[in-house]
Amino acid sequence: MQFKDIVGQTDIANRMTAVMDSGRVSHAQLLLGAAETTLPLALAYMQYLCCEHRIHHDTPDSHGLRADSCGECPSCKKIASLMHPDLHLVFPTAATARVKEKPSSDDFQADFRDFAAVHPTDATLEAWYEALGIENKQGMIRELDADHLIETLALKPYEGGWRMVVIWMSDKMNAAFANKLLKTLEEPLPGTLLMLTAENGEALLPTIRSRVQSLTLREESGEWKANDEEFAPLLVAWLRLLFKLKMKELSEQVDRMASMNREQLRLFLQYTQEVMRRCFLATAAGAECHIGSGDEKFDAQFPRMITTNNIEAIETALDDAFFAIGRNAYAKIALMELSFRMSRALKNR
Ligand SMILES: [Zn+2]
Repeated sequence: MQFKDIVGQTDIANRMTAVMDSGRVSHAQLLLGAAETTLPLALAYMQYLCCEHRIHHDTPDSHGLRADSCGECPSCKKIASLMHPDLHLVFPTAATARVKEKPSSDDFQADFRDFAAVHPTDATLEAWYEALGIENKQGMIRELDADHLIETLALKPYEGGWRMVVIWMSDKMNAAFANKLLKTLEEPLPGTLLMLTAENGEALLPTIRSRVQSLTLREESGEWKANDEEFAPLLVAWLRLLFKLKMKELSEQVDRMASMNREQLRLFLQYTQEVMRRCFLATAAGAECHIGSGDEKFDAQFPRMITTNNIEAIETALDDAFFAIGRNAYAKIALMELSFRMSRALKNR
């Protein structure tokens, strides 16, 4: 699967390839969006990750893409046919006429390959259940899937490169799978990339959401959907203070942010990162970007502050705060340090 074969997701594809080219690949990610779009995007992402001859365009190609995998090297071909030995696929299953008990993704790998080949960009959950002949049952990702995943991750990668895991429709995981997955997310293995996809992020435990970098797909309307729209006012109030850097007001604002619990705070930092990337890409493309401040002047001016000169410093500062807070650092200190680094970066545009 190449990004060019996926219609209407150019922005997210450009973000994915830009982040990967910068070498800042997050070991655990969540793609939020329709099942039939997240599956090809996750596969195109893995294909780009392993491609031996990534293609780059100085100006976006006819699809609006800045980069894509070549589609022709051995790695691309193996991922396109879902036959790459280091690509592990997990998806909802249920007992069938053939697998009468203890079903798991391992029992249905060949079925899933056939299904993905027939439904490259329209792989809905309903279509998958129909392919398995379990239309009347609830598919689920179970403890046995987690056991197989953990066994796989304990092995060295066959091809010496990345170990890739795609958990498609992770909103269908049960509690036993979630608990075991959480341990894997807490102790990331080097060279391993987990990509979860979900239609309903609310179905995932907050402890899982806060340990993965989330990307929300564009809605049909073409509008960006904010990860957590309630964060917008808080973000805007904070950004305004980063320009003024009045210590008393900034300190009060940081107190308000630090009063969130750890999981919420990490989601807020992810949301901030998503907004910064949106601003950067819009500015680079000469397009408009609305960050929802409710102030037209600020909305028009702020995105232009994010440029090639400071986007990396901003992302690094946000990543560092994200991980510091995950390691139980004192939230207020982490947020003050983040504020100073962001403020410096914003002035250095
Ligand atoms: Zn390739």
